[in-house]
Amino acid sequence: MHGETNPHNARTLIQAHGDRYIWINPPALPLTTKEMDGVYGLPYSRLPHPGYNNANIPAFEMIQHSVNIMRGCFGGCTFCSITEHEGRIIQSRSEDSILQEIEAIRDTSPNFTGHISDLGGPTANMYRLACKDPAIEAACRKLSCVYPGICPNLNTDHSHLIALYRKARALPGIKKIFIASGLRYDLAVTSPEYVKELVTHHVGGYLKIAPEHTETGPLSKMMKPGIGTYDRFKAMFEQYSKEAGKEQYLIPYFIAAHPGTSDEDMLNLALWLKRNGFRADQVQAFLPSPMAIATAMYHSGKNSLQKVNAKAPDIFIPKSVKQRRLHKAFLRYHDPKNWPLLREALKAMGRADLIGNGKHQLIPSFQPSSTSGSTGNTSKTQPFKTKFTGFDKAKPGKTKVKRAYR
Ligand code: SF4
Repeated sequence: MHGETNPHNARTLIQAHGDRYIWINPPALPLTTKEMDGVYGLPYSRLPHPGYNNANIPAFEMIQHSVNIMRGCFGGCTFCSITEHEGRIIQSRSEDSILQEIEAIRDTSPNFTGHISDLGGPTANMYRLACKDPAIEAACRKLSCVYPGICPNLNTDHSHLIALYRKARALPGIKKIFIASGLRYDLAVTSPEYVKELVTHHVGGYLKIAPEHTETGPLSKMMKPGIGTYDRFKAMFEQYSKEAGKEQYLIPYFIAAHPGTSDEDMLNLALWLKRNGFRADQVQAFLPSPMAIATAMYHSGKNSLQKVNAKAPDIFIPKSVKQRRLHKAFLRYHDPKNWPLLREALKAMGRADLIGNGKHQLIPSFQPSSTSGSTGNTSKTQPFKTKFTGFDKAKPGKTKVKRAYR
């Protein structure tokens, strides 16, 4: 099904189930910019359905001042099915259409304070990016334009997006425009001018990005770039933040228990987190969702990015409750509640050397009495002096950030 997502060459799929059949039509052709403008230019009320009777709707609070600039994604991350929902070919609105929507928010929303919470889409920085050649694009059957590396045929010109940001924030009555959609940082590093624009004007102290893992085993099953690209983006982010005189932080997201992730992979990720001073508050563990390639891996135990037959090797799938709990515990290695489980696992993995109070060690050898149960209070525990409620560069005693970890 994922091989049939290019509407220019996709074939109908038919699969027998007993005496009945599942029939999957090829996806719809992408909308032109004019058609996109038509869809987004309809007279929406921009209000919750009256049936909600003025109830407080958290999702509405989040999106009421957010503007969608495009649809689709050519990333191909295996745990995501956005390509199946919105297509792999990017469909972008015109600048005028987007600017008009910002003005409509400014002029009609009673809660508007001058802040646009997002100018984005499935990925923040794929606006008007496409294959250089329409004929090649129509024939292409690849799952991703950016994995295992950026395709030489992909136009990565961010100038349209930069121009859009500049025009949007120049509108009267607009104080700040944030970019809250996830950023594809391997694309962003191809345009230092874009990163500078983003970091200087559109980051509200924290920028979310999603390396998802540090190890090549799980990354290759996710179809995500290596952590080396993250380091390149981080260096640019820090340089431009410094030049702008701003103290800003990256918030990297990681997935625990993704198909193809071993205990050792999670241990290496935990050590990376500790080395880089990150502490996750809430963490996400992989859940098989409809239409995602990783879901096929989860259920089959095979790497469905390669040829799958009876002889195809099995890949490790962390499925049991205990295994999933352990993988999540590695992401929250700093939480004393997880230390008993981690100690047991480290010993079983032959890595008891990582238990202790040394800088290079992951978790202490002792269990503070106040945290052997479920309090989670780390205030008397070395080296953690502050109970962190967010995900940030660790600054004990200084920073307390309330931020969800997807
Ligand atoms: S040729 Fe490359 S850039 Fe063009 S559609 Fe295929 S993968 Fe994407």
